[in-house]
Amino acid sequence: MTALASRVDIAGNLAAIERRIAQACAASGRARDEVRLLPVSKTFPVAAILAAVAAGYHRFGENRVQEVVAKNEELGPDSGVEFAVIGPLQSNKAGKLAALAVEFQALDSLRIAAVLDRRLEALERNLDVLVQVNSSGETTKSGLAPADVVAFAGQLVNYPRLRPRGLMTLALPGPDMAAVAACFERMRQVQAALRAARIPGVWDELSMGMSGDFELAIAHGATCVRIGTAIFGGR
Ligand SMILES: *Cc1c(COP(=O)(O)O)cnc(C)c1O
Repeated sequence: MTALASRVDIAGNLAAIERRIAQACAASGRARDEVRLLPVSKTFPVAAILAAVAAGYHRFGENRVQEVVAKNEELGPDSGVEFAVIGPLQSNKAGKLAALAVEFQALDSLRIAAVLDRRLEALERNLDVLVQVNSSGETTKSGLAPADVVAFAGQLVNYPRLRPRGLMTLALPGPDMAAVAACFERMRQVQAALRAARIPGVWDELSMGMSGDFELAIAHGATCVRIGTAIFGGR
């Protein structure tokens, strides 16, 4: 694991990604601070996270709560590291997520919303959530169908510990970039529908774009890009 972390130039990769994000923002007339970079550390060791911390990052994306628990333990208290959970949640892990994560980007079930809300209530915490949308229509993907998002989001007022912040998606995997762009545009339409329906919540976030498509996502309005491979190396 140490060998892996030292072979990959994490600080150099982060700097290169930062330059590309800045260029993509400039190319679409957006301010750099409209887009946040969420490094995705899943499957990589704590040493990789610490290399990114040294480069100035403190929030990391993980898709398994189990892994957040383990890494949190290894990091110890007062590490300053925060975790955003970006993968599907099983209800028996909701307590751990409620206690350890600062953000949950893969909300797509009211049953999970209810369990999380109850756990958060007991801990007297709130949690930022993004609703996951299946923008590609692929049956293997998690997330709500775009047409179902407004009705779903309207129910979230029943779970006051959840703070809706926006939407998350995984686009189709390349190489058809027109199809990928269509996924991102669908997200903008869903966001516009939420605003038109005046669904309570702040729907500003569009978490979309990964190592292979983040520049295109930025051109289509992404506010959060989730990047793993291009920073930490292949999994
Ligand atoms: C793994 C993962 C990413 C990062 O993907 P890369 O292609 O490695 O950049 C982004 N979002 C989610 C939900 C993931 O599971």
